[in-house]
Amino acid sequence: MTLPDNAREIRLASRPEGFPTPGNFDLVEVPVPAIGAGQLLVRNVVMSVDPYMRGRMNEGRSYTPPFELGKALDGGAVGEVVASEADGFAVGDTVLHGLGWRDYAAVDASTAVKVDPEVAPPGAYLGVLGMPGMTAYAGLLEVAAFREGDVVFVSGAAGAVGQVAGQVARLRGAKRVIGSAGSADKVKYLVEELGFDAAFNYKDGPVAELLAQAAPDGIDVYFDNVGGEHLEAAIDAFTMHGRAALCGSISNYNTTSPTGVRNLGLAVGKRLSLRGFIVGDHEHLRADFVREVGGWIAEGKLRYQETVTEGLERAPEAFIGMLRGENTGKALVTL
Ligand code: NAP
Repeated sequence: MTLPDNAREIRLASRPEGFPTPGNFDLVEVPVPAIGAGQLLVRNVVMSVDPYMRGRMNEGRSYTPPFELGKALDGGAVGEVVASEADGFAVGDTVLHGLGWRDYAAVDASTAVKVDPEVAPPGAYLGVLGMPGMTAYAGLLEVAAFREGDVVFVSGAAGAVGQVAGQVARLRGAKRVIGSAGSADKVKYLVEELGFDAAFNYKDGPVAELLAQAAPDGIDVYFDNVGGEHLEAAIDAFTMHGRAALCGSISNYNTTSPTGVRNLGLAVGKRLSLRGFIVGDHEHLRADFVREVGGWIAEGKLRYQETVTEGLERAPEAFIGMLRGENTGKALVTL
C-alpha cells in the first residue's frame, strides 16, 4: 500500500471551560509517523469519543493524566496494520489500541490487541464488546453485586454503557429494569427495542418524582452514569441494603458549578453500599464478558445502537455532540 505524504491529527488547542467548543481543538497536518522496533504503523478506521476524555481536558491529574495543550489527543481506536516491526503482527491485521484522534498511529505492539473484523464490526470493539460494554458488565455484576430478582435503575441508559447495563440486568433475571435518558426517542428505544420495563426522560420533571412513578416499590440496584440529581433520586428510592455502582457523573462534567447530593444521610439507615469503580480494575471478568455478552448479541437477545460520524475533521463535533446527548448508543467516528 502506498502511504500518503501527510497524515492528520487533532490536538487540544485550549482547555475548555464548561462545555467544550470547536475552538478548543486544532486539526493539524503532520508527517506519517516513522516506526521503530516493536512498533506498528496503523491506519485508523474508527475511533471512540468518550465522556472520560472531557476530564482529561482539564488541568490536574485524576485517575488518568490530563491531555497536554498543543499535543494530539488520544483514546480508543481500531485500525489496520500497514507496516509492522513487531513479532506476531502482520500487515493487514486489525488492531485495537489507544492512539485515536489521528489518521495514522505509531503504536507500540505491546499496547495493541488483535481483533477479528469477521467476528464483529471494528466499531463494536470500542463499544458493546469493548470498554463501555465491559464497564456495564463489571459495574452491574461485580461492583453493584446484582442478584436475580433485583429492581435495577440505570441512568444514561441509552448511551454506550447504559444500553448494555440495562440489558445485562434484564437477561440475568432482574425483576424490573428502569432507565432514564434525555429524549422521548431514547425512552422509546429503551422500552420498545431494548426491553426495559419502564423509562423516563429526566428533562420532563424532578428525577425523584419520575423515578418514584417508574419504581413505586423502590430500587435495589442503581447503575449511576450521571451523578447529581439522579444519584440523589436513587438514594431516595433505594430499598434497604441498596447497592449503587458509581460509574460516572456526566451531569457535572461540563459545568463550573457542580450539583451535590444532599441526602447521603439516608445511606446510614438504609445500609446502602455506594461503590465507585474503574473498568480497568476488573480485567479478570473479560473472558466471562466476551462469552456472555458476545453470546447474547449472536443470539439476538442483546441489541445495541451506534451513532457514527464520518471524518476525523468532525471528531470534535462528535465529541461535543456526545456530551450534549446527540448520540444513541456508542458515539464513534469513522476515518
Ligand atoms: P454515553 O452515555 O454514550 O454518552 C454520554 C451521554 O450522557 C449522552 O448521550 C447524554 O445522554 C448523557 N448526558 C449528558 N449530559 C447529561 C446530563 N447533564 N444529565 C444526564 N445525562 C447526561 O457515554 P458512555 O461512554 O456510555 O459513558 C456513560 C458514563 O459512564 C459516563 O459518566 C462515563 O464517564 C462513565 N464511564 C465510566 C467508566 C468507568 O470505568 N468508571 C468507563 C466508561 C464510562 P442523554 O440524552 O440521556 O442526556
